[in-house]
Order: sequence, then structure tokens, then C-alpha cells
Amino acid sequence: MTLGITLESLSLGYARGPVLREIDLAVRPGEVLVIVGASGSGKSTLLRALAGLLPPHGGRVLAGGEEVTGTSRERAMVFQDDGLLPWRTVRRNVELPLRVRGLSRRERRAVAQEWLARVGLEGHEDRLPRELSGGMRQRVQLARALAGTPRAVLMDEPFGALDAQTRAGMQALLLDVLRDTRATIVFVTHDVDEALLLADRVVVLGHGGVRSVIQVPSPRDPAADPVADRAADRARLRHQILEEL
Ligand code: ADP
Ligand code: MG
Repeated sequence: MTLGITLESLSLGYARGPVLREIDLAVRPGEVLVIVGASGSGKSTLLRALAGLLPPHGGRVLAGGEEVTGTSRERAMVFQDDGLLPWRTVRRNVELPLRVRGLSRRERRAVAQEWLARVGLEGHEDRLPRELSGGMRQRVQLARALAGTPRAVLMDEPFGALDAQTRAGMQALLLDVLRDTRATIVFVTHDVDEALLLADRVVVLGHGGVRSVIQVPSPRDPAADPVADRAADRARLRHQILEEL
């Protein structure tokens, strides 16, 4: 079951002061919503509130109609700097959310193995995070996030620290695994091209709020415009987003 997330008049900040004021936004069930914004515009702050890691100054976040008051395994997080446990092997990191779900040891092993194969990490199960490249660690995070069958995945610049080639590979992998999941995705990036590649809709943050919400024509829709039109659309959207940033 997919999860809709609603932000109602949401204000966020820290002791020093407000960061985002009175945001209203509905994340649609099953969509890929990408949040872009300049550094310091509040992208991570917003994502933390969606995860239940940061209580609002005002307003509220609803997930599936219920107010978010803390973290939940229904909303998995993927971070830029890996949130993997350094003393656990790859396999045991991926098994972690399955343990929380109460799966037996055998079931955990099987599901983790399946996901590690999906992300191309077969044969690396017994390594420790520090023995992996940055790209491989992000694959482990992705496997761990999705293995727990969350209803939403919140991703904070997950490919931001990767070199261009590894990043392109991870984007392709993400698009591939998302085809088979119905989870709602909220993905933060400061890279406009990454946003346009992944998003159903792009939210531009700035000046303490949402500057605009942009629908991206789906490249996944076979009935969509001819390729040339799509390229022109994309160039136009890219320009529009860069103007607002
Ligand atoms: P972004 O992810 O878009 O770069 P952040 O959400 O990290 O932006 O930060 C938004 C603003 O909130 C910045 O001015 C930042 O300095 C401030 N901020 C972020 N985290 C904290 C924190 N833990 N305590 C105090 N201020 C913070
Ligand atoms: Mg950030």
C-alpha cells in the first residue's frame, strides 16, 4: 500500500530561528517527488520533519492521514553519508529492518540476499562498510531501505558524494528498482538534471518556502510525446528551475 504525505501549514526551524514557514504540500501516493533548492534552503530540514526526526514549530505532517510524531519503519531514510552500521557486515546491515519487522532468521537471510542481488552486491555480503566504495555503500543503503518494504522512502542527496559515472549508474539502478516498488519517494538533491531524471514532480525550495511545484512529463510513459519534444520540454523545465534557484 502506498503512502500519501501531507504537509499542513508546516513551519520548521531550530533554536536559532525559523527555516521554513507555513508550507502546504501533498506528496501523492506512489509518486517520486524531488526537492531541489540551494544549499541552506532547508531541504534536509524538511526531510527530517517528514521522517519524524524534527518536531515542527507549527503545523503538522500527516502520513496516511495520521500525524507524524516520530520515526516509523513505514518511512525509510537514505542519507548521503552512509547511515550504515560500521561494525556490521553488508548482509547484517540489510537484515536490520527485517529484524524489526519480526521476520525469522531464515526469512531475513533470504530477503536480504534477494535485495543484495538486485543492487549488484552478490559476493560482497560478508564485507564491512569500510571495505566498500562509496557507490557500493549507497547500494547497501538502498537495499536496506527497500528490503523493509517501507511505504515511503526519504532520500537526502544519496548520490551527492559520488563521482559522475558512479552517480549515473546509481540513478539508473534507482529508476530500475523503483519500477517494481509502489513506495512513495521523496528525494532531495541540488542537481537539477538529477531531479528531472527521477521526478514525477519537482518542488523548488527558496526564501523559506516552496517557490514552485513543477510537473515533469513522464519518460516512462510510452504514449508520451516524441523524443525530440521531450528533450525540448526538459530543456525548458531545466531553465525554469535554474531561474528559480
Ligand atoms: P539544505 O539541506 O537545503 O542545505 P538544511 O536543511 O541543512 O539545508 O539547513 C537549513 C538551515 O537550517 C541552514 O541555515 C542551517 O544552517 C540550519 N540548520 C540545519 N541544521 C541545523 C541544526 N541542527 N541546528 C541549527 N541550525 C540548523
Ligand atoms: Mg542538506
